[in-house]
Amino acid sequence: MSGNSKKSLGGLPYRRIVVKMGTRLLTGGGSELNLDIMAKLVGQVAQLHRQGAETIIVSSGAIASGRHKLGLSKKIRGIPYKQVLASVGQGRLMNTYERLFEQHDITVAQALLTKADLSDRAGYLNARNTLLALLELRVVGIVNENDVVSIDEIKEAKFGDNDNLSAMVANLVDADLLMILTDIGGLYTADPSRDPAARLIPEVRKVDAGIKRLGAITRSNLGTGGMVTKIEAAALATSSGVDVIIADGREPDAIVRLASGEAIGTHFLPAAGNLESRQRWMVSGLCTRGKLIVDGGAALALRKQNRSLLAAGITRAEGKFARGDIVAIYDAGGTQLGCGISNYSSGDIGVIKGAHSTKIAGLLSFDYGPEVVHRNNLALLEREEPSAHRETIPVQR
Ligand code: GLU
Repeated sequence: MSGNSKKSLGGLPYRRIVVKMGTRLLTGGGSELNLDIMAKLVGQVAQLHRQGAETIIVSSGAIASGRHKLGLSKKIRGIPYKQVLASVGQGRLMNTYERLFEQHDITVAQALLTKADLSDRAGYLNARNTLLALLELRVVGIVNENDVVSIDEIKEAKFGDNDNLSAMVANLVDADLLMILTDIGGLYTADPSRDPAARLIPEVRKVDAGIKRLGAITRSNLGTGGMVTKIEAAALATSSGVDVIIADGREPDAIVRLASGEAIGTHFLPAAGNLESRQRWMVSGLCTRGKLIVDGGAALALRKQNRSLLAAGITRAEGKFARGDIVAIYDAGGTQLGCGISNYSSGDIGVIKGAHSTKIAGLLSFDYGPEVVHRNNLALLEREEPSAHRETIPVQR
């Protein structure tokens, strides 16, 4: 299977593109899939396809379509009810895409994914292989969460929103660009529905606490997760080396213009350097069973010196995990540094934390080596950037 490479055929700056379309975009805010809107969006994806781009769609709309078919009210809530709606609507959603893409002689495929499937390394690789094979066959994969089997009660087993799912898919297929299309122009300096002085932020270099705060203040009529989950998705995908743009999908030709590099919406720049596939899986957060909190010296050694994590630098272990599980690594200030495979269980780390490596055997009466996380099993997230975003370019809309 070919890897991705930036700069592509047909003059597009991005070759492999994941397009996420939310329910409000597909319905135009109405109660049913809007065929005119969908035809325009599909026409744009078809144009990129003809230009040689490899495209995957992450599409919501199953629940809305099922609800409309059954003539049920939006007021009835609850996960089992939504699962019923999704199972009624998913076929209708796919049928709509199939008919629309047929007009462009493009074959589509359905891929329903769950977090539980992808948290298993084999499941992750199988899903990746399938999606890459579809791209190679020039089939447009249409991905949604498998709502029928993903339940909220098992919190960790549900993506919960297609924003996070889209980042996961972009990560799975090593995409160059993830477009998160919605019905707001992007990320603003304040809530544009309340504050007339709110300005669009055209570019974000790093998703830091300030950016997350901006996401939280944007009033959400944005579908399941609002701006918060879109920013989470941007953080995940950019950490894997994917460009992410949150933009208003209702803008004329938004998909085609974004793919050709036009500055619409908010562009989240990728972290320097692509992570290799195994590291992407680790940082996806799908499989982290616990946390290790490290002191300043260890944080520096991990970030700057490409060193392994030793027991001496660990101040705390959180959660219950076994030897071989993936853990998230945080500094004392609560910033995630990365993820890695732990050589010791959470219980063992409780005993050896802070200790010099030579003391491990004595403390545990066994020893799996001096490294709690070996540098070869480490995927770091952090990158150094002078400022988080630029607001200098005024954007007309
Ligand atoms: N999977 C849901 C659906 O197709 C949507 C979830 C979301 O929009 O985030 O209706």
